Amino acid sequence: MKKWVYFFGAGRAEGKGEWKDLLGGKGAGLAEMTRIGLPVPAGFTISTEVCDFFYKNGKKYPPTLRKEVAAHVTRLEKVTRKKLGDPRNPLLVSVRSGSARSMPGMMETILNLGLNDRSVEGLAATTKNDRFAYDAYRRFVQMYSTVVMGMSKEDLEHRLRAMKSRLGVKEDTAVPASGWKELVAEYKTLFQQKTGEPFPDDPMDHLWGAIGAVFGSWMAEKAVTYRRVEKITGLLGTAVNVVQMVFGNTGNNSGTGVCFTRDPSSGEKVFYGDFLVNAQGEDVVAGIRTPMHLSEMAKVMPKVYAQLEKARVILEKHYRDMQDMEFTVEDGKLYLLQTRTGKRTPAAAFRIAVDMANEKLITKEEAIQRIKPEDIERLFYPVIDPKLDKKSLQSRVLATGINAVPGAAVGKVVFNAHDAEEWAGRGEKVILVRRETSPEDVGGMAVAQGIVTATGGKTSHAAVVARGWGKCCIVGAEKLDIDYQNHRMMAGGKTVKEGEWVTLDGGEGVVYVGDLPLVTPELPKAYTTLLKWADDRRTLGVRTNADTPQDARKAREFGAEGIGLVRTEHMFFTDFEQPEKGHERQRAIQEMILADTREARVRALDKLLPFQRRDFVGIFRAMDGLPVTIRLIDPPLHEFVPHERAKQEELARDLKIDVGAVVRRVEQLHEANPMLGHRGCRLAITYPEILEMQVRAIIEAAIECTKAGIKVIPEIMHPLTLDRKEYQILDQATRRIADDLIKKSGVKLHYLVGTMIELPRAALLAGEIAELAEFFSFGTNDLTQTTMGLSRDDAGRFLPDYVDEKKAGVFAADPFQSLDTKGVGLLMQWGIERGRKTRPKLEVGICGEHAGDGDSVKFCHKLRMDYVSASPFLVPIARLAAAQAAIEEKLEKRRRKK
Ligand code: PEP
Ligand code: MG
Repeated sequence: MKKWVYFFGAGRAEGKGEWKDLLGGKGAGLAEMTRIGLPVPAGFTISTEVCDFFYKNGKKYPPTLRKEVAAHVTRLEKVTRKKLGDPRNPLLVSVRSGSARSMPGMMETILNLGLNDRSVEGLAATTKNDRFAYDAYRRFVQMYSTVVMGMSKEDLEHRLRAMKSRLGVKEDTAVPASGWKELVAEYKTLFQQKTGEPFPDDPMDHLWGAIGAVFGSWMAEKAVTYRRVEKITGLLGTAVNVVQMVFGNTGNNSGTGVCFTRDPSSGEKVFYGDFLVNAQGEDVVAGIRTPMHLSEMAKVMPKVYAQLEKARVILEKHYRDMQDMEFTVEDGKLYLLQTRTGKRTPAAAFRIAVDMANEKLITKEEAIQRIKPEDIERLFYPVIDPKLDKKSLQSRVLATGINAVPGAAVGKVVFNAHDAEEWAGRGEKVILVRRETSPEDVGGMAVAQGIVTATGGKTSHAAVVARGWGKCCIVGAEKLDIDYQNHRMMAGGKTVKEGEWVTLDGGEGVVYVGDLPLVTPELPKAYTTLLKWADDRRTLGVRTNADTPQDARKAREFGAEGIGLVRTEHMFFTDFEQPEKGHERQRAIQEMILADTREARVRALDKLLPFQRRDFVGIFRAMDGLPVTIRLIDPPLHEFVPHERAKQEELARDLKIDVGAVVRRVEQLHEANPMLGHRGCRLAITYPEILEMQVRAIIEAAIECTKAGIKVIPEIMHPLTLDRKEYQILDQATRRIADDLIKKSGVKLHYLVGTMIELPRAALLAGEIAELAEFFSFGTNDLTQTTMGLSRDDAGRFLPDYVDEKKAGVFAADPFQSLDTKGVGLLMQWGIERGRKTRPKLEVGICGEHAGDGDSVKFCHKLRMDYVSASPFLVPIARLAAAQAAIEEKLEKRRRKK
């Protein structure tokens, strides 16, 4: 017969610490603590498999469960020498949730179960404390009514307050037994009124009600949301822990506390925690009374404290990680109620991992495995001051969107890029709010503190550009009604006008009204140590996506080993070194687009050439000795010409042409589906002169730098290739120009020519393309878009439903953020295998946004790519994930050998 329930108590446990998937973290922890001889109250755990069964079978329990639970209650009664509902010496239990991954506060708990009108008398008699017994009873009735029967918490709290004011007392501790007795009766009457039934009497019925409530809370809205946000997937469900109650509120020789084996904020090796005398656990959590620090507890209860300190050492040694423990002292006796791996700040995560490795408690490889990619991300960005009151923060929410780039930003709202530049020029801090952004907006985006768009997903223009700069960005804030004409935006009944302050939380994707205080975390020393350990172990290279010398330098500081993608078109509108020249560049590209003849186009491109060359010189210098992959023009041309009448007129005036010609050209360029239109290398096929200018700029810059003693390794990359013959035309044109320039210069310069793989056809025919291409770089933004047939710019509207377990729940994560390894990944695998079959030394990388996502990087390692190329701020994440992938592989091999 299948076993559903696991017992622990009296020094023995049926479960084990490793069985977290089956018993949940709490259940496994209690079993393990029992096994290693720590003082733990007895109890049993109903496994997560029951939760799984429950939801797969129309919310029914396995047929044998009732019998098994009843048997375990009997066993618990034997061990504790008490009986559930006994009017003389009643057994009281707590019923708590606990899944394999900690979800604090997300699921339900019932305490003091076992009390009814008769057994409460028994409790009063055995503890010789009426007040305590009736307080426990009212807590139970209150919890049962709200948690199990869904009655309003506020309703009951209100009655509690009314009772206290009737008695003229302020603190709960001052309420006499008669007050609690009165309140229990009142609660029960309310219960009957609301449910039409009397309050149940039998503790066994209570137990089943509580078990049902815990299993039910697994699918409660907040729990589902928490799992989505924390990317918790693949769990069977929650377990239910039924544990003998111990009381911290029986007098001044009792108490309850929560502690961490190290400081969870700094990671320092000090015992850290709070203790409340004469209190129950919920009092600590609720924060009603101010607890004392553990150092004070050491003075008040030295013996118990010494025991606790001993438990701290045992637990850290045993679990080899920082623990978060809950304990209760009942009449001078210590009980550990829970231990789990403690949550910590990112800075603490680094310090604890490095310290523990240095203390030889864990290996360096384990230390590397302990860091989550988000820990790194959060180290660099400012955040909204965590000390801020949560309630007032909540009242300031204007809208929520997709958290494209983390960090926080404060500024005055402007609604167009031009204003952003003007205001910033005056020294104002601005937040740029747009329905969406396009290359035209880049100047304004660059000067803004943060960016918000009403549409778009994680690979929309705004998200990609902002990520490159590590600039706080929220996209797809669909509820924002942006009124460009009247310079204001509305959402949720609030209006924010131009010039008013807003604060962005890019990590959570929330826009707040007002200017909130920000704090920037300090980079811990342990960060450098741990990343060095990671670099020593990874085999996958890490490059960066950078379009400017500044970004390139930043990326190098973050540890980039080259550039995997320079998006050249990002330089068409903005001059990052001489901003006043931005306009000139812009006009040159626009003149080229508006030109009717090849000659006129060449003339316009000749104006752009020196700008591009200067940019490349800057980037090559910054990347001295490292490879730089430069991609030729990619977006459809309509993105570079204005669509508003006033701007079209201005352009016509500047170029001294008829505005009608501008309008006509813009109309001509219009495409129903520009993402699948005239873009990528198709542009160079139609306008070879663009390719000629760009290759010339790259090679001339490379020659100039080589002459100056800089080591340049250029890789020229063609985007969106779909066919061998198409690629051949581009490849030949590229080499003709490059070889000619190099020959004339007399310098020795080696360069590569290759392609992005961004279309399923290119991946499928990779074997043919690799006959000519020297390298592949997977552009997984477009490859995801084209494989899935989902627009990267529009899918943000419905994709959240696809990753929401409560809605469609089709994907575990947004496929534009975390690689769809099953579908898109299959094409990548195929492409790499075929490509390398043709050309064994084919260099393979990835430059889509996925290269900054931990799980995706691990997948790239498995595919034996040469490198991943991520935005500068994500480079450390890629370094860490690459090391973790190498370590995981090593462990897997070792496991298989065994
Ligand atoms: C891609 O498609 O993955 C890519 C890197 O190119 P872009 O985002 O510029 O289209
Ligand atoms: Mg692309």
